[in-house]
Amino acid sequence: MTKRQQSLEMGWHLDNSYSRLPKSFFTSLNPTPVQSPALIMFNDSLAISLGLNAGALRSEEGVAIFAGNAIPEDALPLAQAYAGHQFGNFTMLGDGRAVLLGEQLTPEGKRFDIQLKGAGRTPYSRGGDGRAALGPMLREYIMSEAMHALGIPTTRALAVVTTGESIIRETDLPGAILTRVASSHLRFGTFQYVAKWGTDDELRALADYALQRHYPEIEENDGRYLALLQAVIQRQAALVAKWQLVGFIHGVMNTDNMTISGETIDYGPCAFMDTYNPATVFSSIDIQGRYAYGNQPNIVGWNLARFAESLLSLLHEEYAEGARLAQDELSDFSEHYYANWFAGMRAKLGLFNEEKQDESLMGHLLQLMEQHDADYTNIFRALTLNQLTDEALFETSEFTQWYELWQERLTRQQASKESVQQLMRDSNPAVIPRNHRVEAALEAAVQRGDYRVMQELLDVLSNPYAYSNQQVNYASLPAPSTSPYQTYCGT
Ligand code: AMP
Ligand code: MG
Repeated sequence: MTKRQQSLEMGWHLDNSYSRLPKSFFTSLNPTPVQSPALIMFNDSLAISLGLNAGALRSEEGVAIFAGNAIPEDALPLAQAYAGHQFGNFTMLGDGRAVLLGEQLTPEGKRFDIQLKGAGRTPYSRGGDGRAALGPMLREYIMSEAMHALGIPTTRALAVVTTGESIIRETDLPGAILTRVASSHLRFGTFQYVAKWGTDDELRALADYALQRHYPEIEENDGRYLALLQAVIQRQAALVAKWQLVGFIHGVMNTDNMTISGETIDYGPCAFMDTYNPATVFSSIDIQGRYAYGNQPNIVGWNLARFAESLLSLLHEEYAEGARLAQDELSDFSEHYYANWFAGMRAKLGLFNEEKQDESLMGHLLQLMEQHDADYTNIFRALTLNQLTDEALFETSEFTQWYELWQERLTRQQASKESVQQLMRDSNPAVIPRNHRVEAALEAAVQRGDYRVMQELLDVLSNPYAYSNQQVNYASLPAPSTSPYQTYCGT
């Protein structure tokens, strides 16, 4: 079989629109081959939706592609340049360990980046080795697929291969490569990079590319860059509201980890909050709590301001006027965020209509959760099932008072009991990737080569609103621990 025939059989249908952008935006290079690749995880349903042939991709030739040892037909591999504010400080970054193979064109005519993460050094690697460890790549697989199943826009995981090579961290770890799928890898930081070091023409080329790729509905007139800003503000407001509603803590909301598409990206130190507390931080390096749960919407607002700054020269020929236009749009962010959050929280409480007092009903419940160290997910799960057991909060008189107000409130709408329960089931996950479960799955996989724990976890997480019997166990909390849960940037 020729390479072309083989690629066609695997279902590859690659284009490389990014490589047609100005040369300063990227560096063309192949992944660095690895010793002995083995396919560890493969996402069949994602493969099918991408028009890929799962059977052919599981072959040695298919796995070689996920390892970076072979390049499919029509791929033009490259590493993207970008900058970003990391914990508030501006710096040059870029794909230091990722290589974009190209964009897969799906049978439905959609376009998705196919990127190998952990594929070797690039000109943007700085001191790093360009590699990734198995544990963090499996973690990204679990978390991003869980987010997708929760209905939250996200990059996805197509495959994980082990490389047969060790990578050196504090100890030697097994190396791995994750195949990440994204509607694009355009970041706020991509714009910051071009705004800082590129020309106005290059910035315009990038913005037009982003418009075409993610916001084709925006008309091609002079107002299109302001419309782009407005659209990104709305997508990001919707995204962070979804994070808040499920208790997702991203952990490293640097501007290079914010997408123009509005997808969640970079699953390094993320984790789900258990006990409700806005100050919750899991990331070992987030000493100041910059990216704490309760701070996430503010940070998105701050990041959007950095994105807007990068667009200023396109917004108006006079700088001050451009800044005024951007400021006008940015000032709407809180309102967009709140509208999304409020609608989501009403659904979590089974409310179809809207009343003025709803805000205080919600605020009061959250306040009680915080006061009584209640588990965020399990409280909503218990309210959904109307099984008010197993949580100390339910024994308190303050909660009983709140509950009565809520019950009364439910009568002030037309909806039947059944439809209220259905709305709550569709809005409150019965399971989330709890930290102890994720750790147990990774330990079994990485330490013992036993993937069953992870498979079952993925299975349970694949339909978080099912309220199946299998999910009951996954709602339980770990035994109390003296050390708080900590996450790492996954390098
Ligand atoms: P992150 O914390 O994943 O957002 O990464 C920040 C920057 O560090 C990005 O430019 C990454 O490509 C780069 N980076 C992370 N890990 C490595 C590594 N092992 N080798 C080279 N670059 C890396
Ligand atoms: Mg990153």
